[in-house]
Parts: sequence; C-alpha cells; structure tokens
Amino acid sequence: MSTLRGPQDQAADIARQARELLSQVRESRWPGFEPPAAAATTLKPAAPPRPPGPARQRISLRSAVPPASATPPREEPHPWSSLEQIAQAVSTCTLCPLCATRTRTVPGEGNPKPRLLFIGEAPGADEDRLGRPFVGAAGKKLDDMIRAMGLARDQVFIANVLKCRPPGNRAPLPPEVASCAPYLRAQIELLGPQIICTLGNPATQALLGVTESISRLRGRFASYRGTPVMPTFHPSYLLRSPADRKLSWQDLQQIMQRLGLPLRSQSPTREND
Ligand code: URA
Repeated sequence: MSTLRGPQDQAADIARQARELLSQVRESRWPGFEPPAAAATTLKPAAPPRPPGPARQRISLRSAVPPASATPPREEPHPWSSLEQIAQAVSTCTLCPLCATRTRTVPGEGNPKPRLLFIGEAPGADEDRLGRPFVGAAGKKLDDMIRAMGLARDQVFIANVLKCRPPGNRAPLPPEVASCAPYLRAQIELLGPQIICTLGNPATQALLGVTESISRLRGRFASYRGTPVMPTFHPSYLLRSPADRKLSWQDLQQIMQRLGLPLRSQSPTREND
C-alpha cells in the first residue's frame, strides 16, 4: 500500500514532536523554565547584585544536562564551523527565557585565533544595548588589565558564559548556563586559545564544573579540556575592591609568563577608578 504523505501530514508530525519536546522540558529537564512566549510574565523580579561570596549551586559547562544514569552523557559534536555561524545561531536563540528580555545578543568578539581568551559572566546593560562584550565600566577595567599585560584588546578574544543579559544583572541560573553551554564550548574549540582566563565566580565555576569560590580558585592554573585556565577576579569586583587588584595582577603575570610575554612592573591600577 502507498505510504506517500502530504505536507499537511508532515506539518502535523512536526507539531506533535514540538509538543512532546515542550512537555519534556516542562516536566523533567528544566524545572522552572517557561517557554519564551510566557517568559516575560513569569520571570521572577531581578535579584540585587551580589558581592563575590561563598560558592553557590554548581553550574557547569561539563554537565549541561544532568545525566539520568551513572554513565556520562555522550556529547554531540556541534554543528558550527565558524565563529560567525555561532554568532548567527546565538542571534536567533530561544532556548531560555532570556531571549524574551534581551535587546541584543552578545556572542563575543576579538581575535579569531587568540593566544588568550577571557570569559566573563554575562552581558550587562551596556553590552545588551550594543551587542558587544565588556563595553561598560567593567569593560574599561578589563581593557586596563589587557593593556597592562602588554596586549591590545583585538589580540585577545572576549566572551561570556551567557550570551544574553539576565534582567537586573542577576547571576546566571543553571538552566541558562546549560542552554548557552554549547555556544561557549564551540567557541573555545574553534578559537583554540593557549590560555583561558575566567573572570569571577560564575565563569570559573561554569567552565571548571566546581563550586569553590573565586577567592580560593584564583592564582592557580586549572585545566579545561587540556587548555590551561587561570581564574581571576571579575573586573567589576576589582572596581569595588581595589585592595584585591594586586592579587589579580599576580594572576595576570602568571599568564604573561606562560605566554612568554615580557613581565612588566606596571599594574592595571588606575588612579581614578
Ligand atoms: N560583565 C561581564 O561578565 N560581561 C560583560 O560582557 C560585561 C560585564
């Protein structure tokens, strides 16, 4: 008997698959997640910004979706072959509710073959408005840090764990980190940096899959899939806590040493910030 199916049958199949996926998301994988259409009315009010403090819930790039059994989940290869393709995918992403509140996506920018990759937490208000990472006050501080290392901003790549701004600059939620994780993983793979510098608690914890705070992790090289990772304080924290800038400068000097950059005495401390 003929099994030819018309476009209406195929459309009905796709609609059924979409409904099944949605109900899986609602029922099991992402408690608390609301599909984008409903997100604007169900998002909780923004939490006030928190100072760096004790470790929070573990959020990791290594286990984006919690395994159902003891067997580690097999990771699918990503479908992108360039940074531009990742940026394009990010620009239309609706995998988490942040798509409902963002102005622009912020995929990251910089040298496509950098020796050094900086990873921050998530776009803030300025980044959300301009679609570029670290362009506000924290960005100026990061520029100082990069310059003090003897590098220019366009020699490094700057990315964030989240590509969309969390409302009120609250910390990223685990499901948000999970849905953005494939983008950052693919970026790291395509960029192939010699060293990654994570900025602050969320970036460090997400990349390394740990729960310790940045105060404990900074200053020692860790590893992400064979690439050395130096965790250091987030530039926003350094703006609020100038006393810790010398520790951060020590971390940057360790990176410089590994990269074979000339060690300099000039720290990124500016008189007026
Ligand atoms: N803070 C971040 O972590 N990332 C940005 O892009 C800006 C501020």
